[in-house]
Amino acid sequence: MSTNGRIVVLLGAPGVGKGTQGVRLGRELGWAHVSTGDLLRAALRNGTPLGHEARKYMDAGELVPDGVMIDLVGEHLAGLGPRRGVVFDGFPRTVQQAEALDRALAGEGRAVAAAALLDAPDAVLFKRISGRRSSPGGRVYNVYFDPPRRDGVCDETGDALIHRADDQPETVRTRLAVYQEVTAPLIGYYEAKGLLVRVNAEGDIDEVYAALLAAVGDAKTAVDGIATTGS
Ligand code: AMP
Repeated sequence: MSTNGRIVVLLGAPGVGKGTQGVRLGRELGWAHVSTGDLLRAALRNGTPLGHEARKYMDAGELVPDGVMIDLVGEHLAGLGPRRGVVFDGFPRTVQQAEALDRALAGEGRAVAAAALLDAPDAVLFKRISGRRSSPGGRVYNVYFDPPRRDGVCDETGDALIHRADDQPETVRTRLAVYQEVTAPLIGYYEAKGLLVRVNAEGDIDEVYAALLAAVGDAKTAVDGIATTGS
C-alpha cells in the first residue's frame, strides 16, 4: 500500500457545516484542513491581488473562476507534501475543479479516497447562513438558533455585530442556486467513481461528526499511523 496520506473531499451546500466538521476531522485525524473559502478570506484580509480579484465574486455569492482556484489549491497542496492526509472543504466546487484535483493528485501517485456529501434541507441552510452575525472578536451568533441578548450587539464585548456581505439573504439565495447548478453535479462525478458517502447533516455537531467519521472510516483506517487505534 502507498505510504501517502489520504484525501477526503467534503461536499454539500453552503451552511451545511463543512467548515465545522472539516476543522474537527483535520484536528482529530492529524490531517490538513484545506478550506478554499478560508484561503480566499485570508487573501482578502491581507489585501493581496488574489483577494482583490476574488472579492467581487465572493460578495455576490458567485464562484471565483476555476483557473484561479486550481492554481491556488495546487500551490497549497505542493506546500503540504505528499504524505499528509488532507480534508478538502469547499473544493472542488465544479466538475472542472474535480478533474484538475484528480490530475494534480495523480501526478503525486495519490487519489481522492472518499467524497462525503453532507446533506440538509435548503430551508435549514438558508436560516443557518442568513441568520449568522459575528462580532469583530470572532464570536458568531445566529438570530434564529443562537441570538444575542440584545439585537445586533455582542453579549461579551458590546460591539456591534456584523452581517457579512455574502450572508445577506439575496446572496445566500444566489449561493444555494449556484450550488445546485454547478456544484451538485459533483455528486454524480464521485458516485460514478464509487467514492461517494452520504451523511445526514441536520443533527447537532457531534452527531454529524460521528456519522462523518463512520462514513470516511475506510479512508481513515488506511492512513499510516492512524490505522485501527482507539475510536
Ligand atoms: P465558503 O466559505 O467555502 O462558502 O466560500 C466562500 C466564497 O468563496 C464562495 O461563495 C465563493 O465565492 C468562493 N469560493 C470558495 N471556494 C471556492 C471554489 N472552490 N471555487 C470557486 N469559488 C470558491
